Amino acid sequence: MDSRYDAIIVGGGPAGATAGILLAQAGWRVAIVEKARFPRRKVCGEFISGTTWPLLRQLGVAGELLELAGPAVRRVAVYANAAMVTAELPAASGQRADAGRAVGREHLDAALLRRAAEAGADVWQPHALAGFAAEADGYACTIVDQDTRATRTLHAPLLIGAHGSWESGALPTQDFRRSPGAADLFGFKAHFRHSALPADLMPLLAFPGGYGGMVHTDGGRVSLSCCIRRDRLQQCRRQWPAMKAGAAVLAHIGASCRGVALALAPAALDGPWLSAGPLQTGLRTFGSGGIFTVGNAAAEAHPIVAEGISMAIQSAALLCGRLLAHPELRGATPVASHVFERIRDDYARAWRANFSRRLHMAAMFAHLFMRPATARIATGVIERFPQLLTAGARWSGKTEPLRGARTLDVVPP
Ligand SMILES: Cc1cc2nc3c(=O)[nH]c(=O)nc-3n(C[C@H](O)[C@H](O)[C@H](O)COP(=O)(O)OP(=O)(O)OC[C@H]3O[C@@H](n4cnc5c(N)ncnc54)[C@H](O)[C@@H]3O)c2cc1C
Repeated sequence: MDSRYDAIIVGGGPAGATAGILLAQAGWRVAIVEKARFPRRKVCGEFISGTTWPLLRQLGVAGELLELAGPAVRRVAVYANAAMVTAELPAASGQRADAGRAVGREHLDAALLRRAAEAGADVWQPHALAGFAAEADGYACTIVDQDTRATRTLHAPLLIGAHGSWESGALPTQDFRRSPGAADLFGFKAHFRHSALPADLMPLLAFPGGYGGMVHTDGGRVSLSCCIRRDRLQQCRRQWPAMKAGAAVLAHIGASCRGVALALAPAALDGPWLSAGPLQTGLRTFGSGGIFTVGNAAAEAHPIVAEGISMAIQSAALLCGRLLAHPELRGATPVASHVFERIRDDYARAWRANFSRRLHMAAMFAHLFMRPATARIATGVIERFPQLLTAGARWSGKTEPLRGARTLDVVPP
C-alpha cells in the first residue's frame, strides 16, 4: 500500500464507507482510517428509512443486508404513559418505494466497509488518526495501529471527516469538548429476544427526561435505543442503585411507558447494554481548506426521528457527487483554495436543501416529548388525531428521496 492518496477519509462508519465506495468506484485512490475493529455493535436504533435502500442498492450492499434485515416497518406509534397510539408510516416517494427496515450496525457498517475495500479503497483498520499537518500540496495524517501501536503517515490533497460526533481528535472538525451540563444527552441501546412488539411497528417512546424507539431488527431481535438527560440518568442511578446504568434507564422507561412494559414483558436481554455520549446535536461544520465533513461530523439530528444513518449515507453521496465533478482534484498540481471553498459551499447548499428541515423537526419533537407537561399535551392531541403521527414522519424526512446527488444515477424501478 502506497501512502499517497487522492483522499483520506477519517472514520469508516456509514458516512465514511459510503464516501470510500463512491470515490474508489470512480477510480480515486482512497484511504479509509477506522479505529474500531469490525464487526462491532453501536449505540443506534438501527432503522434505515425506505428512502436510503435505493442508495444502498447502488452501493452494492442492499442484497446482503435485505437478507438479514428485520421486517418492513409499516406503522409508527407513540408510547407515552398509558397511551399507545399507532398510525400508518407514509410510503417513501420515488420510483422505487422501499419500506424502511432495521439491520444491526455490526452488519451494516461491516458490509459497507467491506464493499469500499472491494471497490479499491485501502482500509486502515484498526487504525486511529493521531495527528495531522498541512503540507504544501495537502495534508499529512499520522495513523496509529491500535494493536501494535506502530505509526505511519498518509498524504492527500483533501480529507473527509467522517468520524462521527462523540470523540475529540486531531482534526479541527473533531473538537467536541464542552463543559458538562444537566441537559447533556446520553445514548443507550440494547437488543432483546422474544419481544411482544408487533413486527411492523416502530414506536416512539416518550418518558420524563428522554425519548427512545423500538424496532424489530435482524435475527429476530428487537432493538431499544434511547437518549436520556444527564440529570435524569443520575436520578435513575439513585432510584435503582443496585442496577447497572442501562438496566436503571430501562426500569425508568418501563415505569413511564405501558407500551414498553407490555412489549418487553416476555422478552430477554440479548447481549450487554451499550452507552455513548454526550450527544451534540445540531449543525456543526462542512469543513474548510480541503477538509470536508459528512454524516454526524457535519451535523447530528436528534435520533428521535431515526434519520442519522440515512443522513450519513446521503450526505456522503452529495459531497462525492461534487468532488467527482472536479477531475483536477486528482492532478499533480496543488488545488487553489477557492476551488475547495466553491465545492464546500455547493455541498453545504445541497445539504441544507435536503436535511435542514429534518434537523429542526427532530429538535422540536425531542424537546416536545422529553418534558412531561408538553409530552402529555402532544400525546393527547395525537390520541385525537393519529394522522398527525403519519404527518410527523413525513415532516421528518421519511419519504423524501435524496435530491441533487449529481453523479448518482436514478435506480430503475
Ligand atoms: C440512541 C440513538 C439511536 C439512534 N437510532 C437511529 C436509527 O434508528 N436510525 C438512524 O438512521 N440513525 C439513528 N441514530 C443515529 C446514527 O447512529 C448516526 O447518525 C450514524 O451512526 C452516523 O454515522 P457516521 O458514519 O456519521 O458516524 P459513526 O457511525 O459515528 O461512525 C464514525 C466512525 O469513525 C470512527 N472514528 C472516530 N474517530 C476516529 C479516529 N480518530 N480515527 C479513526 N476512526 C475514527 C469511529 O470508530 C466510527 O466507526 C441513533 C443515534 C443514537 C445516539
